[in-house]
Amino acid sequence: MSAHYTPQPRKPLPEGFLTALRSLFGDRLQMGEAIRLQHGSSEAHFRPSLPDAVVFPLSTEEVVALVKLCSAAQVPVIPFGAGTSIEGNTIPVRGGVTVDLSRMDAILEVHAEDFDCTVQAGVRREQLNEHLRDMGLFFPIDPGANATLGGMAATRASGTNAVRYGTMREAILSLRVVTPDGKDIRTSRRARKSAAGYDLTRLMIGSEGTLGIITEVTLRLHGIPEAISSAVCSFETLEGAVDTVVQAIQIGVPLARVEILDDTQMRAVNRWSRLDYPELTTLFFEFHGSHTYVEEQVRTVEEIAGMNGGGQFRWSNLPEERSKLWKARHEAYYAAVNMRPGAVGWATDVCVPISRLAQCIIETKQDLETSSVPGTILGHVGDGNFHVVFSVDPTVPEEMVEVEAINERLVRRALAMDGTCTGEHGIGLGKQDWLVEELGDAVRMMRLIKQAIDPHDLFNPGKIFVREG
Ligand SMILES: Cc1cc2nc3c(=O)[nH]c(=O)nc-3n(C[C@H](O)[C@H](O)[C@H](O)COP(=O)(O)OP(=O)(O)OC[C@H]3O[C@@H](n4cnc5c(N)ncnc54)[C@H](O)[C@@H]3O)c2cc1C
Repeated sequence: MSAHYTPQPRKPLPEGFLTALRSLFGDRLQMGEAIRLQHGSSEAHFRPSLPDAVVFPLSTEEVVALVKLCSAAQVPVIPFGAGTSIEGNTIPVRGGVTVDLSRMDAILEVHAEDFDCTVQAGVRREQLNEHLRDMGLFFPIDPGANATLGGMAATRASGTNAVRYGTMREAILSLRVVTPDGKDIRTSRRARKSAAGYDLTRLMIGSEGTLGIITEVTLRLHGIPEAISSAVCSFETLEGAVDTVVQAIQIGVPLARVEILDDTQMRAVNRWSRLDYPELTTLFFEFHGSHTYVEEQVRTVEEIAGMNGGGQFRWSNLPEERSKLWKARHEAYYAAVNMRPGAVGWATDVCVPISRLAQCIIETKQDLETSSVPGTILGHVGDGNFHVVFSVDPTVPEEMVEVEAINERLVRRALAMDGTCTGEHGIGLGKQDWLVEELGDAVRMMRLIKQAIDPHDLFNPGKIFVREG
């Protein structure tokens, strides 16, 4: 299923539909080949499938009107944020209308005293953090890409800060959602906790556009820490690096970020970003807290690293030095993809209990050593979450088969350790078989929920699972 998803039958748009759509959106309805290709392709290896049209709403009211129109005409609706998802999540496999929320980018309210804010779904995380900086606040979830908050909610994204601050699941207080029957609902109030009925907020988080269009997101915020330090350390062995992280967490060091890059990945970043790091498995750390507490954390982790074969522990609390130290990590994905000219990325994403992480990564590394397709390991090791990024040529079927087989072994390995087939990228098109293997009959309940909320299967059809019958 993953690489070569089965195209689904498309129906021609009903007569009069486009005229009605044009009267709602004017020139914010776009049908040119380039814009449809941009919204029908993805960051990864999936074959494109174009929407019939792309619209750019400006308000929740416009989204309601659009949903009512599409529902009456039985036309699929595909929500779209920044298009950075990597499991083919936004590809309109049955055509229809892609709803690009990027122009709904207003920061509506910041309640500094309550540490929360409400934003339109198209606000990007960097934009939000720039807005918050002068108030001494920040929003910690960082999936690397400059994604929208709506897209991050819909994929239950996380990233480098999750080890300390959690994922989108913990970060969201409430959502405003337009449902497939055209209702404009709020899933919760702004209160920090609530026991009021079913938890619709969490039902929507990670629903990948299949249950509704998120138009507003209310988020928890954090105070910018008094001190931040970054550190980088290379290790003689993969095992030594992973053991360092596990031991640091086990003794209670509150790591804010800890990322692993294997030797192949370090070679790729040195080439791509013109750096000169040792080409060994490397850990990138960030520590938050008061000046003395941060220094204490740095010293503790340096000592643990030393006991596990870590080399020089380079650290700094100066912003420009910190950016330099993290440069390799920030450019890692594109460095890996571009190991071969003209290749595309195929990024896997498993997560296992932290006590099983070393074994899972080491077995995966052994598997990669026999692969003819270059692949690197990088990950958010503090959560037990890591990726293999392959630099694959999708026009060579043997390569796709080989990567699929490695991916399969990796997912089976993670599931056997009571892990998951996706820590953060979602199911999209790529992980559908694995969802069933992981959760069995629980997927039946997901299907019943989908059937109840979107009976005509119009919202991002073909994602998470293909509707039966
Ligand atoms: C270089 C790189 C690094 C990455 N690193 C990470 C990482 O560390 N952690 C991580 O979690 N992810 C990572 N990702 C994946 C990606 O950034 C996340 O999946 C992100 O959350 C997607 O947000 P987006 O705005 O781009 O959403 P899109 O890609 O546009 O959409 C993603 C899904 O959400 C749905 N959707 C979008 N907006 C809405 C909405 N308003 N309402 C309802 N449904 C909606 C879409 O239909 C689709 O199913 C990375 C991607 C890249 C390219």
